[in-house]
Parts: sequence; C-alpha cells; structure tokens
Amino acid sequence: MSRFIPLSIPNFEGNEKKYVLDAVEQGWVSTGGAYITRLEKQIAEYLHTENVAACQSGTGGIHLALIECGVMPDDIVLVPALTFIAAVNPVRYQFAEPVFMDCDNSLCMDPVKLRRFCEEECIVQNDSLIEKRGGQKVKAIIVVHVFGNLADMEAIMDIAEEYHLKVIEDATEALGSKYTEGRYAGQYAGTIGDFGSFSFNGNKIITTGGGGAVTGRDAAAVDHMRYLSTQAKDDPHFYIHHEVGFNYRMTNLQAALGVAQMEELEEFISRKHKNYDLYKELFHGFSYGKLLEFREGTYSNQWFYALELKMDLLKCSLRDLISKLEQHGVQTRAIWGLIHRQKPYHEFLAYEVERAAYYSECILNLPCSTQMTEEDVRYAAETIQNMIESYR
Ligand SMILES: *Cc1c(COP(=O)(O)O)cnc(C)c1O
Repeated sequence: MSRFIPLSIPNFEGNEKKYVLDAVEQGWVSTGGAYITRLEKQIAEYLHTENVAACQSGTGGIHLALIECGVMPDDIVLVPALTFIAAVNPVRYQFAEPVFMDCDNSLCMDPVKLRRFCEEECIVQNDSLIEKRGGQKVKAIIVVHVFGNLADMEAIMDIAEEYHLKVIEDATEALGSKYTEGRYAGQYAGTIGDFGSFSFNGNKIITTGGGGAVTGRDAAAVDHMRYLSTQAKDDPHFYIHHEVGFNYRMTNLQAALGVAQMEELEEFISRKHKNYDLYKELFHGFSYGKLLEFREGTYSNQWFYALELKMDLLKCSLRDLISKLEQHGVQTRAIWGLIHRQKPYHEFLAYEVERAAYYSECILNLPCSTQMTEEDVRYAAETIQNMIESYR
C-alpha cells in the first residue's frame, strides 16, 4: 500500500510562486502592498459586490462583523449547534452569549426552529427582540453555509427582518456558492445577509495559508471593519486613534497567494463538481449510507462531501472506521462535535437541538482535494465500501 489520498490539501498549480516571489522581491510582505487591494478587488468583482476587506482569518472576519452589528456584552447571538467552533468563539470575544440552534437536513440552520425560538422564547419591545428568560437583547444570527451548501436564506432573512436581527453569513466554506433560483438568484453566499465572512485557511476552497475577507451590504461598515483591522489608525504619520482596533489585516504575502488562487477558483469548483458526481455514482445503491446533496435552486462550490452513514447497520464505530481507512491510505473525518457540548459552552442554551445531534454522529467526510484524479476517487470510494462491508 503506497497510495495516500489526503482529505483536503491546497492546490498551487497556478501563479502562486510567481506572485509570492514578486511580493518578497518588492519587499512588500506585511499589511501594506498592492496584492492586498488587488485581492479585495478580485473578490469584490467575483461576488458582484463593491465592499470587501481582506483580513487575517475567517474567525477575525466574524468578530469584526459582530462589532459592526453592535453586539455588546450580555447580548444574545443565535448560532448553529453543528458547526466549526470558530463560528461561535467570536461571540464570546464580545462577551455576548450564544443560543444554539438546530440544523435542517442541509446541515445548515433550521429556519423553522429559529422562528419558533423568536416567537415563543422572545418578545419584541421597541423594535428589539428580547429573550424572556433573562431579558437580554437578541442582536444577530450567525448562519453557516456548511460544506459550501447554502442555508435557507429566504426563510432566514424573513425571520431576521421580522424580528429586527442582523445576519452574519459564515461563508468561510462557501466561496463561490450562489443561488440560481428564487429571490436571491445570482447572489453569492456572503452577500445576502448584512455581513459575510470568508476563510482562506489551508483546507478551504482557496487558501492564503491563513486569511480571510469580510463583505457587507453597507460600504461604510466594510470600510470601518478595514479600519478596525489595522489598529484603527486615523492618521498614518502621527498615530492618532479614536477607537480600539485590532491587528486583523491580511498581509501582502498572503494576498499574493490569494490573487493566484482566485484565478483558479472556477477550475477548483469544476473539479469539486466532477469528483462529487463520480462519488455520487459510485455510492449509488450503497446500502450503508448515502451522499448528502446540495440544496436545490443553488450552485454550490461543493467544497466538502458528506456521506450520511446508517449507523444502525454499521458494525463498527465511526472512530474505528476512520482510523482503519487512514491505514489503507484514505483520509476521512467525522463532522464536528456539537458546540454546546464543548466545555466553554456548557452553560449556554441549546434550543430543541435534535437533528444536529443525529448528524453529528453519522457523517463521514470523504477526500475532496482538487488534485484528485478519477482513479483516486474510485480508490477512495471502493476502499470505504469494502471496509464498511468487511465488518459483519
Ligand atoms: C474555517 C472555518 C472558520 C474559520 O476560518 P479561519 O480562517 O480558520 O479563522 C469559521 N467557520 C467555519 C464554519 C469554518 O469552516
């Protein structure tokens, strides 16, 4: 056995080395330089928006968006229970409190329970939503487009409008995903809510090593986030500051990588689609599980593939399966543990979380790197099927 198929690795087949070398040779490696503005423009054009600020991470982007939404200590922010913890941690950076929501069958936030929570657990007072329990203000919703699959934004935006809530889209996994039908046809993940955050971490659809970007409907708000990300410097020569800022700005070196990656984004997405279609065909009729689909009426970047396993039929634990697969050269992973069950979040409310608990125990993520050949996909699918069937 010499074959090893990693879960998700970066792809540098384009101009990455050329641009990074250029940035180094110019000496512009830090938080100033032409690649940063070039990347911002490139992303803005791609997303059909005017407003993009490059920053240091998707997490930092969510934090800046929460500040822009006016989230203060003791405010409540509605968040998913089933997500990567980075979607929730920024709520605590503001000393605000998360309330955890369930998912629907897309793995994204369930709008039915979201509405029920607003209706039954809260009251509207002077154009603010107040949670009855502790009288705290509910300020915002963080919606995650899980694995590049768009959340039900029509329903969620309706609820947000009705209950005076800001919407931050965690589009860290969804660069390139967009609606093709309905009210938001043509609109990309991250440009539908008030703010959107993207991540260019090493495993995302494009990478800058580490990095991110924030978008927003309001140009002034995005400019303000850019200002906060550079230590809120009001005067470049005399160091005058009127606010507490952050060191959240992307570096030119990262942006150089990003510019090259953006040139390849469409190609990456088309490879994701091709490999997904092949997996779909190969898992068709597999009695132990099925590949989750992407939402109808959308074009997804299909960043990550999720196999929903029938755990009652499986004769092994997910942990065991993952480690055996790794020994056979196929790297997979489980979906995340529920956030309200993580130690820093035990004390916070999880509202009727049921489906998320189910999905957190039966999802296997399949290898999805853009370098995968047809042969790699076949090998991965076959190894997974044989392994599962060998436990009897
Ligand atoms: C990757 C990711 C983040 C964080 O992005 P970073 O750039 O690593 O900070 C946040 N939320 C979700 C759902 C993610 O997958």
